[in-house]
Amino acid sequence: MSKPESTKKIQAIRGMNDLLPDQSALWQYFEETVQRLTQRYGYAEIRMPIVEQTALFARTIGEVTDIVEKEMYTFEDRNGDSLTLRPEGTAGCVRAAMEHGLLHNQTQRLWYKGPMFRHERPQKGRYRQFHQVGVEAFGLEGPDIDAEVILLSARLWRELGLSDHVTLELNSLGSSEARAAYRDKLVAYFEQHRDLLDEDSLRRLTSNPLRILDSKNPDMAPMLADAPKLMDHLDDASREHFDGLTALLQAAGIDYVINPRLVRGLDYYGRTVFEWTTTALGSQGTVCAGGRYDGLVEQLGGKPTPAVGFAMGIERLILLLETLELVPGAALGELDLYVLPMDDGATTQAMLLAERLRSELPALRLQLHCGGGSFKSRIKKADRSGARLALLLGETELAEGRATLKFLREEREQLSLAQAELIDTLGNLASDERA
Ligand code: ATP
Ligand code: MG
Repeated sequence: MSKPESTKKIQAIRGMNDLLPDQSALWQYFEETVQRLTQRYGYAEIRMPIVEQTALFARTIGEVTDIVEKEMYTFEDRNGDSLTLRPEGTAGCVRAAMEHGLLHNQTQRLWYKGPMFRHERPQKGRYRQFHQVGVEAFGLEGPDIDAEVILLSARLWRELGLSDHVTLELNSLGSSEARAAYRDKLVAYFEQHRDLLDEDSLRRLTSNPLRILDSKNPDMAPMLADAPKLMDHLDDASREHFDGLTALLQAAGIDYVINPRLVRGLDYYGRTVFEWTTTALGSQGTVCAGGRYDGLVEQLGGKPTPAVGFAMGIERLILLLETLELVPGAALGELDLYVLPMDDGATTQAMLLAERLRSELPALRLQLHCGGGSFKSRIKKADRSGARLALLLGETELAEGRATLKFLREEREQLSLAQAELIDTLGNLASDERA
């Protein structure tokens, strides 16, 4: 019998995940690494609202893209306005930068992070609420800035230990004129092979034929491999830009492969496009994707402003770190020390000692036992806390002005320490552990 509606447990929305305490340290490690890195490259953080007017995404991402056609969370608010939960960050970033005059006769290097929403079929590495870190640079038209954002991402892989597990794929989409001419050639080619096109591709043939190149359908692969290549139809300026970028990447020792079928699913890209991919995550293998979008600011009513950026999927990168077992100890969020009053008589002194340790050893991760209980249950809680060390305070310790340090994870004699020795000993033990 089904339960009456009112007592049914309410659950999270499909494809929207809770981030539980055993995972948050790894996310913090990732986010802190990104934050430090962007600072080192002179990128400033920008935070935009999660909700925007629907028209912003329709006009930027493109009406006939997967995102706008079928993936957006769009709703009417109480005023009857059409609003959308942001499916990506670039559109809002450009809107905000324009609205606040950040693009007026100046360059900007910006980054953001936060949740994005797309109504997709949830699976490993693909969710309905997911998180991205994005980087956008405005007002710079040469390939040097394309190279810079790629170098920034490459350094992130190095710092996370991922360099050997990701590949940089590059392509150029040329100018919009070159793309339009190429589009006609491509449509003509696809018309010749109409019988080989699947349903999705037939639909795209009129709306967005370049996206057909992106198809993962294995039956179409041989036909797609022989399709005309945009790379062979580039305008001179785009060719020069692309050669400039590859020369810079070579000088910086960044390996890449040219993927002539890389087109990206958003309409605003032109010239450089790139993806960082991995083979370790199955079919959800793109961990970072971006490119140049010189036309977007103008399209939203601003002055022509060259721009380049990328977005990376945090869930996929976290999955990758876990899959490859590249999670450093510090990202496990383990406690260093559990401070344990052995009975209620020691509660006050234990709390004061814990506070003093927090003042003197700010790097120490320390938890104080709260909630009383028998000595046995207190020791059990110390053990379950995951801490490496426990500091015990009882009647004897208090009388002698000492504390007992117990090693919870190793066979090692406990130490009786005078309060004066505590700070040094704990400081040394905790830094040994982290080294
Ligand atoms: P895909 O081809 O995997 O659908 P996309 O082209 O739609 O990706 P972008 O819009 O370029 O992706 O987003 C940049 C990155 O954000 C992706 O490379 C991926 O790492 C991540 N991402 C995109 N959609 C999702 C999702 N639904 N769940 C988790 N991560 C995602
Ligand atoms: Mg997608």
